[in-house]
Amino acid sequence: MSTNGTTSTDGTTGTGRRVLVVGGGIAGPVTALALRKAGLEPVVFEAYRTSAEGIGGTFMIAPNGLGALAVVGLGEEVGGIGQPVGPMVIEDGKGGVLAEFAGLDDLPRGRLMRRAELYEVLQRRLAEDGIEVRWGKRLVGVEEGADGITARFADGTTATGDLLVGADGTGSTVRTLIDPAAPAARYTGLLGVGGYSSYRLPGRAGRGESVHFANGARAFFGYWGLADGSGTAWFSNIPQPEPLDPEEVRALGAAEWLRRCRELHADDLPAREVLRMADARSMETFPRLEIMPSVPRWHRGRMVLVGDSVHAPSNSSGQGASLAVESAVELARCLRDLPDHTAAFAAYEALRRPRVEKIAADAARTNNQKASGPVGRMVFRLVAPIAMRTFMSPERTLRPVHGYRIDWDRRVAPAGPAVTAA
Ligand SMILES: Cc1cc2nc3c(=O)[nH]c(=O)nc-3n(C[C@H](O)[C@H](O)[C@H](O)COP(=O)(O)OP(=O)(O)OC[C@H]3O[C@@H](n4cnc5c(N)ncnc54)[C@H](O)[C@@H]3O)c2cc1C
Repeated sequence: MSTNGTTSTDGTTGTGRRVLVVGGGIAGPVTALALRKAGLEPVVFEAYRTSAEGIGGTFMIAPNGLGALAVVGLGEEVGGIGQPVGPMVIEDGKGGVLAEFAGLDDLPRGRLMRRAELYEVLQRRLAEDGIEVRWGKRLVGVEEGADGITARFADGTTATGDLLVGADGTGSTVRTLIDPAAPAARYTGLLGVGGYSSYRLPGRAGRGESVHFANGARAFFGYWGLADGSGTAWFSNIPQPEPLDPEEVRALGAAEWLRRCRELHADDLPAREVLRMADARSMETFPRLEIMPSVPRWHRGRMVLVGDSVHAPSNSSGQGASLAVESAVELARCLRDLPDHTAAFAAYEALRRPRVEKIAADAARTNNQKASGPVGRMVFRLVAPIAMRTFMSPERTLRPVHGYRIDWDRRVAPAGPAVTAA
């Protein structure tokens, strides 16, 4: 493995174990911060020409995600943006409550935030730590040698390092460079739409103290009041058995999607009222909500995957970004403690695979339910209250996911052969 003087045609040079991190979304920047903490030299390469600040809707960072961000010194900062997640209320779509999940008292509350706010914090921290981000660098290929790996970008430039991390999302190029037969992301049968409304919810919901999920008559609806009382954030997961062409979805325009949402939720409360006052200009569409099937190879040679490229559990889990940052931190910990990168990658996979695949399997069940027809919806309404009072208690369902913490100071042991064989 080369230890100094790695060079590239894009003008960057490095010393030490230089890691090319492909993807500047969420997993990429956090991997870079964690690698730096572990004593390695990361450089981030992002396909887009400019930062994603200002785009991307709203999402939740769960307590386990905040815990992983705390390892790279971002727990407090990210824990201070957006608004805290209150109890989750499951509704019947008519305004009636089926069940309520309070968070676990001994854990910090998750945070609801604009994705752009998180990007901003990550980019600022990369700059403060002196970690270079190279924009407009779309990875198209690699050449691996005995001493290092060279990344080729669409603009004709190259960069060489010791290792390459694929943090390039569900459509990952690195995944197919590792294994040309790797599975692609799978469509869930759902299309996502979301935005803001000036409708003010009554009571605690209007103060942003609870988050609501309703299995409506024709589509799933999620909403919560904005903490400043100015209105409501909402999203709809629309069953769409055959995926639509993303260009077609965007070409229809936000006003048309708002019209369709109003039609789909015409019999649902409070969705109907929220959508009546929704602002089309605030809307985002996600033409294909996707899930990653189990990926047989997480690493090969000097390449390894992190985040959505290897374990996108679908938006139904509310865990994609939180798992991505957990994996970023674990990968760095493994590379810190196991100097042989093959052993480090194997240990990383052994630590992460069981957890992320269990969460993805649970989210897939929720997706199936969301995509089901009227009969499935009716069954859900009947079964949900009983299930949530019995086997789906917060202690059983939330604790293993939200209570998970990474002990950064603990040394990583090499994985046993049975686990590394995958
Ligand atoms: C509608 C919706 C709602 C969601 N809600 C939640 C939620 O509430 N909570 C939650 O935790 N998660 C949620 N998620 C999931 C979450 O957004 C993802 O899990 C998270 O963004 C994964 O981060 P990532 O960095 O792995 O991938 P991404 O954020 O997709 O970043 C990948 C980056 O790689 C870049 N890239 C791609 N190809 C290349 C290439 N060849 N060369 C260089 N760069 C490349 C891309 O431009 C992008 O910037 C939601 C997702 C959707 C779609």
